[in-house]
Amino acid sequence: MTAKWDMSADVVVIGYGGAGAAAAITAHDTGAEVLVLESTAHGGGNTLVSFGGFMHPEDSVQALRYLTALFDYSRSERDDRLLSIFVEESAKSMDWLKSLQPDVSFQTYGGASYPQLAGASAIRKYVVSGARKGATAFAQNLWQLLSHAVEHERKIPVLPLTPAQRLVTGSTGEVIGVIAQSRGQEISIQARQGVILTTGGYEFDQSTLLNSVKGNPVYSLGHPGNRGDGVRMAQKVGAGLWHMNGVSCAFGIKVPEFESALLIAAGAAGQILVDRSGKRFVNEGAIERHAGLLAVDLFDIQSLSYPRIPCYLIFDEATRKRGPVSRTTGLGSAGIRHAWSRDNSTEIKNGWILKDETLAGLARKLGMDAKVLQHTIDLWNTTVRTGMDALYGRELPDDLRTATIETGPFHALEIYPCLLNTQGGPKRNEWAEVTDPFGVPIPGLYSAGELGSIWGLIYQGGGNIAECLAFGRIAGRNAGNRPDTNG
Ligand SMILES: Cc1cc2nc3c(=O)[nH]c(=O)nc-3n(C[C@H](O)[C@H](O)[C@H](O)COP(=O)(O)OP(=O)(O)OC[C@H]3O[C@@H](n4cnc5c(N)ncnc54)[C@H](O)[C@@H]3O)c2cc1C
Repeated sequence: MTAKWDMSADVVVIGYGGAGAAAAITAHDTGAEVLVLESTAHGGGNTLVSFGGFMHPEDSVQALRYLTALFDYSRSERDDRLLSIFVEESAKSMDWLKSLQPDVSFQTYGGASYPQLAGASAIRKYVVSGARKGATAFAQNLWQLLSHAVEHERKIPVLPLTPAQRLVTGSTGEVIGVIAQSRGQEISIQARQGVILTTGGYEFDQSTLLNSVKGNPVYSLGHPGNRGDGVRMAQKVGAGLWHMNGVSCAFGIKVPEFESALLIAAGAAGQILVDRSGKRFVNEGAIERHAGLLAVDLFDIQSLSYPRIPCYLIFDEATRKRGPVSRTTGLGSAGIRHAWSRDNSTEIKNGWILKDETLAGLARKLGMDAKVLQHTIDLWNTTVRTGMDALYGRELPDDLRTATIETGPFHALEIYPCLLNTQGGPKRNEWAEVTDPFGVPIPGLYSAGELGSIWGLIYQGGGNIAECLAFGRIAGRNAGNRPDTNG
């Protein structure tokens, strides 16, 4: 316990991304005095560098069927009570956003990530519309709405560059405050009613990743402020963890210019993915965009290596000239700082795309047997011409029947699994209270967002931001209504 507090509030929110903003707004609206701490210079976190989509259940019963099936397939730990609260609360998110900004409008951009599952038709994904352009425009629209409600409408104080370091507990283990760092000094902040952890995940914490996620190296596309602090702070006060192996993971490249990776959507016309030996290993079109790690995390027990990490995106000069090799660049922290050139020439000049006049030369640069790579490309060109992908028993979609790989120079991108975000962390209950390993709530401690998310190994697109909004509000409501127990 701290004898003297430097600051105090009813509710202290740690981490100012989507979940932190939703929690702060809701706690404030219960009448509580709220203070938000943010470790980096600006709020927004992963939320602001994302696509900004959120899942909406159109029919609660069917949506629950679908989500339940996702867990049955992934065999991740499922909490039925949490899932049904998530569905119930998510159904109210658009109305809640409208209550913050009455003229807000939404547009849909798709539905279930796994349409083959029962109940899938009940899932829709939405974004906040607006005039902004670019890959993160919808995320900016959402963040503008949330941050305006926090900072301008409610004037909730947000302390940037103030990383929380540990939680302070009272005599019976209840959370009563936070120790944070501010301008090189430690400060103590009393939380009279509760602390809400919304620090995001451990995307930039290699130690936690190594201990929980299979596959290596794994990089991250998101916000470098997400370093697993919330996991450690919660552990220290006795939280139980779950879903630590759950990640939402795409493909990307890692370049020295940026701490974050750059997103690459592989598998357009004229592109194939090959493993480190030069063989195709997957139906490129069948990788759900959040399940990239599951496509490459095979460990080969004979070579004692991950033969698909890195893997390589191969394409020829005709495809190089046709347009940017990835249609989703621009998302993620590095993406918003790099505009991918239309003909990929900047990226070749930067050394991000490897190039050689001949396929044999490219194979040499990639450390592959040239004959193996040539065989793979010959097979692929037959696939394109016949329209049958014999390796994966599929008919090639029309858009892929247009481009073979045969015009030199030849190109390769070194592809790694790159996290959109992690899902694990302290487990919470339906009141967003963080619980200990036996399921008993730790008094005064709440959480929301991707930290200790409901999602396991298989993820539904738009599910994380939906969870920020839903559990941010639940945490804010319950912390805001909790009696002042230590004032
Ligand atoms: C490229 C990309 C696209 C994505 N697209 C989507 C999408 O369309 N839909 C979807 O649902 N999900 C998407 N995601 C995932 C989603 O953005 C995140 O899971 C979600 O926004 C997390 O919100 P959060 O509030 O939990 O964390 P964040 O928004 O990451 O906020 C956490 C904040 O806590 C701060 N923090 C960390 N430690 C401390 C500390 N010790 N003290 C104080 N502050 C701290 C961080 O700096 C950060 O600002 C995407 C992610 C990426 C990277």
